[in-house]
Amino acid sequence: MRIDLHAHTRASDGTQTPAELVRAAAEAGLDVLAITDHDTADGWMEARLTAPEVGIELVCGMEISTRHQGRGAHLLAYLPDPTYPPLVEELDQILAGRNSRLPAMVARLREEGIDIEADEVRRQAGAAATGRPHVADTLVAMGVVRDRTEAFARYLNPGRPAYADRHAADLTEMIGLVSEAGGVSVLAHPWGRHGQERPDEATLAGLVAAGLVGLEVDHQDHDAGARERLRAIAANLGLVVTGSSDHHGAGKVGHELGCNTTAPEEYHRLLELAAAAAARSGRAGPPMVGR
Ligand code: AMP
Ligand code: ZN
Ligand code: FE
Ligand code: FE
Repeated sequence: MRIDLHAHTRASDGTQTPAELVRAAAEAGLDVLAITDHDTADGWMEARLTAPEVGIELVCGMEISTRHQGRGAHLLAYLPDPTYPPLVEELDQILAGRNSRLPAMVARLREEGIDIEADEVRRQAGAAATGRPHVADTLVAMGVVRDRTEAFARYLNPGRPAYADRHAADLTEMIGLVSEAGGVSVLAHPWGRHGQERPDEATLAGLVAAGLVGLEVDHQDHDAGARERLRAIAANLGLVVTGSSDHHGAGKVGHELGCNTTAPEEYHRLLELAAAAAARSGRAGPPMVGR
């Protein structure tokens, strides 16, 4: 059984529609796929309609933009009730922060002499969660850069001229909200951010106390040494170990579907924990498709 628990669509900054992503997962020989767009459940319905057609077991999730001890952190939330009002409210705030950041990035690019318009970025993106990758795509379309990688390196990474910060939710509070919404939380690529201090075991133990159930250990941003040490920490803390591609369609090179996978026993533990969270909260998450 091949299981990939982290992938993006055009609902955020992937380049495939949810239907295209689910079909591509089947073609890549996957049995289970999680759709995890940034800060939105917008792609779920289309993915859920397509999954049975191609025999994919679908897990609905999202990758939520959070902050912890002054640093950015991505939280994978699996199977939360997307209508739980406090969760909806937080996600709306994050999406509003994404939208209000866009004019700031565009203004900085214009100072660099690039004739880019915010409306053009929004039009091309067509997504609830507009982000730096969409600005990158517009720069590619304008012929300013060759690809997203060059756009980030020249303009969009922290320290580059068009970088702008945006609102993020508090990580500990978000883990609590996901539990209340009947879902489970896995920390995405915990040691994946270059130039950031890595959360150590004591820090991660604090997140476990808040309700974190897993670590995304097998991710392209982690080298072999990081994976080995994270696996040991996960074992010490009793955390589920996941592995995923973080696929973005054509938007991120080296993240092909299934390039990392989650062991079936870890996946089944995650589902059991999600069922327990749903029972505790009294909130039904989205039904599993294809089980
Ligand atoms: P944002 O959430 O708008 O700040 O944008 C962050 C997103 O940009 C993440 O999902 C990354 O996957 C993506 N990203 C970061 N660096 C690059 C890069 N060099 N090439 C392509 N995508 C990137
Ligand atoms: Zn992304
Ligand atoms: Fe991420
Ligand atoms: Fe991601």
